[in-house]
Formats: sequence, structure tokens, C-alpha cells
Amino acid sequence: MKVSILGKNGLKAVYLNRRKAVREKCLNCAGWSYKEVTNCEFDDCDLYLFRFGKGKQNAKARAKAIRNYCLWCMNGQRSEVSKCASSDCPLFPYRKGGIDRSAEIDPTQKKQHIEAVSEAI
Ligand code: SF4
Repeated sequence: MKVSILGKNGLKAVYLNRRKAVREKCLNCAGWSYKEVTNCEFDDCDLYLFRFGKGKQNAKARAKAIRNYCLWCMNGQRSEVSKCASSDCPLFPYRKGGIDRSAEIDPTQKKQHIEAVSEAI
């Protein structure tokens, strides 16, 4: 899913899955320092085990870690997680367990542009 998230130099459009979303969130947390993520000392963070974004990961445990992290972010209020308005957060599409596509960049946009150009020719 292509979404716009907060990167080191502002918003950037990226293809995300849960694995990459956690990696991006950890980079955000560590001021976009790969070294800081590697040396993270917060082993009580729900995302800790998944911070590298690679290697063998338990998909269910990772999805649960994201939900738990969002719950922590919203001070334990499930309804607030649902209402989260931070669509530029990498975890946003996965915050409720399933996939929220409301922040997805319209995949037909490019096609429409191509169609518009070809119509003009
Ligand atoms: S998606 Fe929302 S609730 Fe989850 S970590 Fe990001 S800002 Fe917090």
C-alpha cells in the first residue's frame, strides 16, 4: 500500500507493509538514526523485537505489537486509536489490527495522468 509518511526531510510517499511500518516508526523515534535504532535500549517497547524490519518475524506477534504500541500512544484509549488523525504515522494503516486504507495514495492517480496525456495527443 502506498502512503505518505513523515520522513527525515518531511513527507515522503512509500510502499508500506507492517514490517516496513515498524522500521519507519523506529527510525522516526530515533531521529532517523539507523545506529540509534540498532542500539535502542528500550527493550520494553512493543516494537523493540521488530525494529530491524528484517529477519524472521512472527506476523501475528508483530500485528499485536503494533496494536499495543498504538494503545500505549493513545494512553490506553481504544476509541482514541480508532480516531487517530495522524495519517502520516507509519503505523496508521495497521493501528486497528486490520488494514485501514483511508490514507492510501490513490493507485489510479498515475493511470489517470497517463490517460489524460494520451487523450491530449
Ligand atoms: S497510528 Fe496514531 S495511535 Fe498509532 S502510533 Fe501512530 S499516532 Fe499513535
